[in-house]
Amino acid sequence: MSAYRGRFAPTPSGPLHFGSLVAALASFLDARHARGHWGLRIEDVDPPRCPPGAADAILRQLEAFGLHWDGPVAWQSERDDAYAAALARLEARGLAYPCSCSRKQWRDHAIYPGWCRDGVCEPQQPQAWRLRSDLGLRPVRWQDRLFGPQTFDPAELGDVVLKRKDGLWAYQLAVVVDDADQGINEVVRGADLLDNTPWQRQLQHALGLPEPRYLHLPLVMGDDGQKLSKQNLAPALPEAEPEARPLLHRALTLLDQAPPAALAEAPVAEQLEHAIARWAPWRLRADPERHLTAAD
Ligand code: GLU
Repeated sequence: MSAYRGRFAPTPSGPLHFGSLVAALASFLDARHARGHWGLRIEDVDPPRCPPGAADAILRQLEAFGLHWDGPVAWQSERDDAYAAALARLEARGLAYPCSCSRKQWRDHAIYPGWCRDGVCEPQQPQAWRLRSDLGLRPVRWQDRLFGPQTFDPAELGDVVLKRKDGLWAYQLAVVVDDADQGINEVVRGADLLDNTPWQRQLQHALGLPEPRYLHLPLVMGDDGQKLSKQNLAPALPEAEPEARPLLHRALTLLDQAPPAALAEAPVAEQLEHAIARWAPWRLRADPERHLTAAD
């Protein structure tokens, strides 16, 4: 097997919160336990969603928690050429097409019905680019390391957007191209992205790229039973190491890694060293209904 290469890939739409710490920590521990490479990719593919300073805050937060990444930080905002080349490859294979349809036009359908597949419906209108999912139909399958076998019917996935009408690259294309170019072979991330994985597998197949292994983590829920997120104003993580210590301990507890109580106030480097040696992701119960509660 080739050497482990993992990554943490936050969207800098704001600073990291406790839910993103759990995802970063699990992916860090998985990589370090395997003596692998752990890269950092800032997913600023949608600049209007990324307030100035948010990416820098994320870097400081990761440092405070001792989550030191390998190599230079990768920025999606600098990868236009790579995404354009991938789209051109798909187009050359007849797997991508421009689409003028608006969501409003197909609102009575569960997925986009593919009206522009054989010619743009309204050539004078702005156009997005979509992947053709109706050619060489085959179920999308993979074995998630925690959630087990996953199977999706491509007919239910529809033709995913690759480039948006406003000219911005779609997240699905950017992630797939970056994971491949960065040699990522292990993806550890939150179960909120489980639904995105089939599109990413489809795209990897269409582009002839290797398929990484996946481990999706149960989501961290707030006291209100909602997923912790910037939208429900989960507090930002600290940027100073002493304040990071108890939160790191809590995140390790939540990941079922049973950190010793004696380490609750220990420097983050000491807590991490202990956790890396004992990392056992299977302790996280693979129950799709299970959520991690931040108040645990
Ligand atoms: N940028 C995505 C997020 O912050 C994560 C993408 C990934 O891990 O594949 O939710």
